[in-house]
Amino acid sequence: MTSALESRIAAEVTARRGDLIRLTQDLIRIPTLNPPGRNYREICDYLADRLARSGFKVDLIRAEGALGDSDAHPRWNLVARHDGAGTGDCVHFNSHHDVVAVGHGWTRDPFGGEVEGDRIYGRGSCDMKGGLAASIIAAEAFVAACPDYRGAIEISATADEESGGFGGVAYLAEQGWFAPERVQHVIIPEPLHKDRICLGHRGVWWAEIETKGRIAHGSMPFLGDSAVRHMGAVLAEMERALFPLLATKRTAMPVIPEGAKQSTLNINSIHGGEAEQDEGYTGLPAPCVPDRCRIVIDRRFLIEEDLAEVKREVTAMLERVKAARPSFQYEIRDLFEVQPTMTEKDAPVVRSTAAAIEKVLGKAADYVVSPGTYDQKHIDRIGRLKNCIAYGPGVLDLAHQPDEWVGITDMEDSAKVMALVLAELLAP
Ligand SMILES: [Zn+2]
Repeated sequence: MTSALESRIAAEVTARRGDLIRLTQDLIRIPTLNPPGRNYREICDYLADRLARSGFKVDLIRAEGALGDSDAHPRWNLVARHDGAGTGDCVHFNSHHDVVAVGHGWTRDPFGGEVEGDRIYGRGSCDMKGGLAASIIAAEAFVAACPDYRGAIEISATADEESGGFGGVAYLAEQGWFAPERVQHVIIPEPLHKDRICLGHRGVWWAEIETKGRIAHGSMPFLGDSAVRHMGAVLAEMERALFPLLATKRTAMPVIPEGAKQSTLNINSIHGGEAEQDEGYTGLPAPCVPDRCRIVIDRRFLIEEDLAEVKREVTAMLERVKAARPSFQYEIRDLFEVQPTMTEKDAPVVRSTAAAIEKVLGKAADYVVSPGTYDQKHIDRIGRLKNCIAYGPGVLDLAHQPDEWVGITDMEDSAKVMALVLAELLAP
């Protein structure tokens, strides 16, 4: 059953289709590359101008002193707020405005915002300037259709999600912008597809493992002790025992894709012995026994797992290698960790979004959990906001790829969903 208000909201979104396309193109044309963090001020100024014209009160916030912030590349963020006719909840849409490197293989201008058929191409179109544009159109259409609403709507465009979010959402959360007293519902329009609600993400533990040896002449390796051979034993033990163990751990979380429903571990890098020479070097390497070897591991863990236990599995493996190799010495250093998070299915923002998806798309919503983390981690941990989801247009697989694109109809449909969520939560 569609109410008169819902029909009005859908019509207001449809009437803005051209505006939605232009807004997305404009955002793509500002190359907010991260690293190093280019044009953050430019994109915030563009959005500030746009949202001020729509009646939002706008704050520009530089994450001064945060990781990555410098005078050359300041970390600028925008928070815009629209207050309704009476008191009520605040619904916040949070998008990151940074994009990753272009990379090779493009057949389109990555910052041209080219439209062809139902697609807009460009770096960041899918992840996630299309989602940002859809949330702005949703808010403007809702306010036009329901000017006497209660509560408030906030839209933020934040820095550095692609590099951990410390100069973006983490900073804003530390400053109190995401706190249960001022924000009650959060939607992050990441590209999860217009019929899916993302409830959270798996946990992360990054660590560096170093094996130690003793340098000697390569013609007499028996006088030294090879750190690379020790690391080889670590990798062999990983293959023998650790990977099979991880494959047995399955989660009840609806993680996508299927392969990420189990615990995973990636070896991000391996370095040992003499450093690689610069490209122009034409000489030969020198013969030395490597005295250091390092790997960086990226372990993704499940909500059913305990981080201390996850770490114990790795140290137990290293201890087994040590027991079998008399001169084996190692060090392990923590680099980064994030706890898994999952919003309850009956949280208000989840229920409203599921109902809106059903109305707009005529099908039941799918519930998913992301294999990797995104800014929800800071909103959850620092902001203490549990009523948070990711929902937005775009095909996740296209993120960070060449010829990235976002579907125009997908953006329009998800803008309708977001506007109906506002109606559900804020209409008088
Ligand atoms: Zn993203």
